[in-house]
Amino acid sequence: MEEVGTGLLDRLDAMQRVAASAPGGPLLIVAGPGTGKTRTLTHRIAYLCAELNVFPEHCLAITFTRRAAEELRHRLDGLLGPVAEDVTVGTFHSVGLQILRENREAAGLPVDFRIADDADRTAARAEAGDDHDAYLALLRKQDLVDLDELLTLPLALLRADQRLADSYRDRWRWIFVDEYQDVDEVQYELLRLLSPADGNLCAIGDPDQAIYSFRGADVGYFLRFSQDFTDARLVRLNRNYRSSAPILAAAVQAIAPSSLVPGRRLDPARLDPEAPLIGRYAASSVADEASFVVRTIDELVGGLSHRSLDSGRIDGRTTALSFSDVAVLYRTDAQAAPVVDALSRANIPVQKRSHDRLRDRPGVADIARELRHTSGLEDGLPARVRLAGQVVSERFAIPTLDGSGAVRPEDVRVAVDLLTPLARRCGDDLELFLSQLATGAEVDALDPRAQAVTLLTLHAAKGLEFPVVFLVGAEDRLLPLRWPGSEPDDDAVAEERRLFFVGVTRAQDRLYVSHAARRVRHGTEYDCRPSPFLSTVDPGLFEYLGDLEPRRPKDRQLRLI
Ligand code: ATP
Ligand code: MG
Repeated sequence: MEEVGTGLLDRLDAMQRVAASAPGGPLLIVAGPGTGKTRTLTHRIAYLCAELNVFPEHCLAITFTRRAAEELRHRLDGLLGPVAEDVTVGTFHSVGLQILRENREAAGLPVDFRIADDADRTAARAEAGDDHDAYLALLRKQDLVDLDELLTLPLALLRADQRLADSYRDRWRWIFVDEYQDVDEVQYELLRLLSPADGNLCAIGDPDQAIYSFRGADVGYFLRFSQDFTDARLVRLNRNYRSSAPILAAAVQAIAPSSLVPGRRLDPARLDPEAPLIGRYAASSVADEASFVVRTIDELVGGLSHRSLDSGRIDGRTTALSFSDVAVLYRTDAQAAPVVDALSRANIPVQKRSHDRLRDRPGVADIARELRHTSGLEDGLPARVRLAGQVVSERFAIPTLDGSGAVRPEDVRVAVDLLTPLARRCGDDLELFLSQLATGAEVDALDPRAQAVTLLTLHAAKGLEFPVVFLVGAEDRLLPLRWPGSEPDDDAVAEERRLFFVGVTRAQDRLYVSHAARRVRHGTEYDCRPSPFLSTVDPGLFEYLGDLEPRRPKDRQLRLI
């Protein structure tokens, strides 16, 4: 293999380097979890700019979440210095918003158009009934656009105006898309308009982590990339830097029955023979499961048993664990409550995030409205205003909103907690903050440095990693998720399996999987069996914790992939 790019690409492995330094043209990077997609993507952009004289302003990088966009921006800053500012980095929605702002008049939008919040949408729906076009017209009368229109309006504009489309192709000559397995039809169409079939589109992702079909995402676009983009180059990344060997072995065995990647492999970069097995706990009840989580976190963070955990780290660091190293993942948001309660009773701080839209959260729309009003944005004053201290401080938000009586103070307080890290990251750019409130997901407001245990839905955990992960509720009715009276079809089960795969592969050093024998859902108590997804995993990879008899034969060799 040709040796390319000394210096800049030194921190990449051989295949990552091949991907980062590939010549122009369509490029598909099929890369499993933890194989360094972000690292590869940032180095590719840096390499193109530094070595091949590509202008940073000709680069557009699209990520799935705001958080991922910030991370990408941060790493590009480190690699490229100040010129990294010229790279456009955002989510599909933020790129759509940028196109709309730049073509406001052509789109027939006023200077101060804004994105409809929950209350606006509810009111317009009530008036328009089932008539979606009438609905949009009502929004437009109030200078509002619907979130979906951040993509559909730019698409219509670019389709209608060839010269406009050409001007964007000329500006963004290099396009990079992370998590390409989760693009939906409109996003795909937008990409096709922005990048011609022989254009410099670099799509990166993992079909086995396609988990957003309920929002219209279609992994089919990933699978047919080479048909869509002529002469596409394909690079595979299989070397996983994130997880210990037992965790990886379990992940590959779990996804095997429905893997969309022929010859799915994940080669562990970490080969610590002492790496702990996967802790498995059969709880008698949901309360028992929650107290298992608390007990174990307490031992890991409060106790002295860090060394064996950290000795598996690839860089050999031995640092004590803190609450920020721990995540609890679950299939449905409703599962969080007993865990939050148990952690709170033990005085362990938590931050809980879902994959839902921020604006759908009670209180968020009210805070946005209040900020817009107070800052004068509503009257068309300059959007960039200096915000006094913290953008959303209790001092500011709560008394004003309390007075109106429109929202519950408790909702506002929770929303303020949620938004504070996001507000801090936006600095004094109120417009940016408001657009994040309108387009972002709850998980965008995650504070990775918070000294708190992170609670996430499996969907929200996509792309993240934690030294210690608890996957709770690994039961037949939750994974795969089954609503009472309905049976998921094969495609749905396959997607649930991918979700399980995403969960398992978030863990770096220690993974705990638990299931309860009984659980109440929708007011009915059920007997539960362990998730069928556990059954394709070699039992020798589990360490059975608690009362259950260890089933692991002592002489069993740990089988690695
Ligand atoms: P996912 O599919 O879960 O989003 P990913 O492919 O995006 O995973 P990253 O988050 O980019 O994976 O990387 C996983 C971890 O591996 C990170 O901690 C990263 O720093 C580390 N890593 C990636 N490449 C290398 C490398 N060449 N050497 C050492 N560590 C690496
Ligand atoms: Mg990633």
